Amino acid sequence: MLFTIKAVLFAMIALLSIILISIFITSDNKNYSIVRDSYSLGTIVQLKAYGSKAEKAIEEVIDKLNEIDNKMSVFKGYSEVSKINTSAGEESQVVSKDTYFLIKKAVEYCSISGGAFDITIRPLVELWGIGKDNSQIPESNELTKKIKLVNYKDIVLHEDTKSVFLRNKEQQIDLGGIAKGFAADEAKNILVKHNIKNAIIDLGGNIFALGKNVNGLPWRIGIQDPLKSRGQFVGIINIINKSVVTSGGYERYFIQDDKIFHHIINPSTGYPSESDILSATIISDYSIDGDGLSTGIYIMGLPKAIDLIESIKGVDAIFINNNKEIHVTSGMRNNFILTNNEYVYN
Ligand code: AMP
Ligand code: MG
Repeated sequence: MLFTIKAVLFAMIALLSIILISIFITSDNKNYSIVRDSYSLGTIVQLKAYGSKAEKAIEEVIDKLNEIDNKMSVFKGYSEVSKINTSAGEESQVVSKDTYFLIKKAVEYCSISGGAFDITIRPLVELWGIGKDNSQIPESNELTKKIKLVNYKDIVLHEDTKSVFLRNKEQQIDLGGIAKGFAADEAKNILVKHNIKNAIIDLGGNIFALGKNVNGLPWRIGIQDPLKSRGQFVGIINIINKSVVTSGGYERYFIQDDKIFHHIINPSTGYPSESDILSATIISDYSIDGDGLSTGIYIMGLPKAIDLIESIKGVDAIFINNNKEIHVTSGMRNNFILTNNEYVYN
């Protein structure tokens, strides 16, 4: 009898210890974070995730980003996008679900932007070579030739076979203006699947802020000063579970005769966009929408850009123009906090 009471007591103490240890581990794990820097999709990737499953989840995210890069990069001859480009005017290419989805979504944004965003921009981007060693102002006859190749309406999509065809030889797709948005959404989905509640996914400034920060407050995201080096901000926004994507000519450019030639090309002039916008930041639930909109909006210029974003439910924007004025759409009015008095906030 004595033996039985002792055994029960022992079992109870053991059980209590197990419960206490697991409570300790759980509460400790709430603040447990993993930070990983990596390189994918032609940019620096920074991932920070909280929780006990963060390490495994981040590994899976990095694999997914590399998989997207391998399917969609124009710099990889074996990618699905390269195959679409090399068979332009000849035959259609069957692609993966991911690539098909992204091209279809991108075409929607080409249309919404009235062709300012056009993923068949690749012949012009290649000619300028911005960000490469061979950056140069092209000959005007070369530009005229390449401008004629740019037309997203020549992308033929076959839903049943998930295949993509470019109508004319030498036409080429470039998903550089939208792929990071898609990738950020995919990264978020993987984190959520692993039950991660708080994380920051930063794909070269294309940010998804998952949940709240670890103190239960909104994430504070800095809006880059387009005239200063990376990490210098014009203001701050408070974000819960949203994507924040910025397009700006300051990201990649070369200077010739004191003039900046950047990487966002206006399809109708063939030249880097010269609108009044220095940077366009889109705040949205899905990063694919933010990225798809940011590039075209940058080219469209301020009045049209504001009208377009105000017309899309659940999407907001912050614009900085070349007079150093900051304009925000109605949903951002109570959110944007100016921190740099070199700028004027309207
Ligand atoms: P983002 O940083 O999202 O604004 O994308 C810029 C990238 O999009 C460039 O580096 C090009 O690869 C591509 N791009 C440039 N101009 C255009 C355009 N008018 N439409 C679609 N993509 C573009
Ligand atoms: Mg974009």
